[in-house]
Amino acid sequence: MSTETTAEAAMTAEGSAPTGAATPPPIRPALSPSRAADFKQCPLLYRFRVVDRIPTPPSPAAARGTLVHAVLERLFDLPAAERTPAAALELLGPQWDRLVAEEPALATMIEDDEHLTEESWYRQAGALLERWFTLEDPTRLEPAERELYVETEIDGLTLRGYVDRLDIAPTGAMRVVDYKTGRSPSEHFEGKALFQMKFYALVLWRTRGVLPRLLQLVYLGDGEIVRYSPDEADLRALERNVAALWAAIARAAETGDWRPRTSRLCDWCEFRPLCPAWGGTPPPLPADAGVRAVDPRATGVPARNED
Ligand code: SF4
Repeated sequence: MSTETTAEAAMTAEGSAPTGAATPPPIRPALSPSRAADFKQCPLLYRFRVVDRIPTPPSPAAARGTLVHAVLERLFDLPAAERTPAAALELLGPQWDRLVAEEPALATMIEDDEHLTEESWYRQAGALLERWFTLEDPTRLEPAERELYVETEIDGLTLRGYVDRLDIAPTGAMRVVDYKTGRSPSEHFEGKALFQMKFYALVLWRTRGVLPRLLQLVYLGDGEIVRYSPDEADLRALERNVAALWAAIARAAETGDWRPRTSRLCDWCEFRPLCPAWGGTPPPLPADAGVRAVDPRATGVPARNED
């Protein structure tokens, strides 16, 4: 996949920096599985998130997911025998306090929601953690990595993301694990989650030279586990898929044509009031839209938030 054209076009779109102006940060085209999935779903959704960066208030479901992920990560700091359901529940309070300190809007989210109290909040998160213990036994697991940032460059495009957990067997076999705090999707929507996992598998394969043996999605909402064993043909197909997707993103960045693609998922889209397909009006494109579209970090967005 060629990204030179994209970067050049983005620079051209912005124009050259005037003499004496600070040198703009170098453009490093990059894509995460979440943003790739956004573009696949709807180019305008990608624009709202990546180019316009329209802030959205934290949702209870997303914040609960962040909290549960934080507890599942920290739990493995404890000696194996102490990784009990009670220990996980004890981590909820401190981890929530830490997250609120980082993003104070999380606290007001609970206060503003008439259906939520602090007690019900911890109860819901605790139920997800307790369900996890029925699916996996952390006393018998020693993850090689947790919340692992992975990235690789393929033909000038950086693919990157965060893997929840990576298990490596004594034989070297890798298992990539992702926790989902929602329910397992119907067959119709399962492709999105598998796309994300294959994306991680491709990055790990390229960086470590080992094809992950197993991709494992753990759905805490309903206690389902989805497992998938990728092969080389799968990951090469994914690579072609990502290249085509990136070419489409580059075209949109060059032309400014971020058209909406309506689907059943519009019912859950937080940007629907701004969407012309539903009678809304998007904001004007930012002056540096071309750069933002291909490299969110060039304008200072931390990778984790962009993921
Ligand atoms: S409402 Fe639908 S079409 Fe509009 S931006 Fe959201 S996902 Fe795209």
